Amino acid sequence: MYSEEHRKEKQREAQKRYREKNREKVREQDRIAQAARHKRLKDDPEYLAMKRKSGREYQQRRRQDPDEREKDRTISREYQRDLRAKDPKAFNEKSRNYMRPKYSELRNQVHKKLGNKCAKCGYDEDTRGIQIDHIKGGGRGEHNKLGWYKYFQKILRDQTDYQLLCATCNYIKRYTNKEIHIVDPILM
Ligand SMILES: [Zn+2]
Repeated sequence: MYSEEHRKEKQREAQKRYREKNREKVREQDRIAQAARHKRLKDDPEYLAMKRKSGREYQQRRRQDPDEREKDRTISREYQRDLRAKDPKAFNEKSRNYMRPKYSELRNQVHKKLGNKCAKCGYDEDTRGIQIDHIKGGGRGEHNKLGWYKYFQKILRDQTDYQLLCATCNYIKRYTNKEIHIVDPILM
């Protein structure tokens, strides 16, 4: 009846009760202990190296364990969801600002890999006027489905099906292939 597991469970409960009863005292003790750890990390390079190493190893072990990885993902998803629920506008603004440099860096890499100019007419003056084109068509559906980040990474892995077109050449191509609905009577 008094198994090891049972004893540990009792101990955890007692600790929890103690923490609840002496909340301020425990917090103060935690603060002191944390300050001491921080001080030691700053003053003792060997301790810092040891902590970093064991932290890395711990993370490696976690990453190799699918259950632990799923747990991490769940925590992260819930945390993000709470943040979003609290203030959707600020959340979106923040994540946009966080992702923007990553997207633009990836986009630059993709453009560089695809030659940095329109494959048809050679236009290369302003990168904002140059678009990624799926040679066989259907690029729009693809990046909608994957999201920009994965879409860029896919092209970086294998560029065969992609080229750069300037906005004009891309428009004409999509018109010719009937990929867009045109309302301008001159083009009908
Ligand atoms: Zn062009």
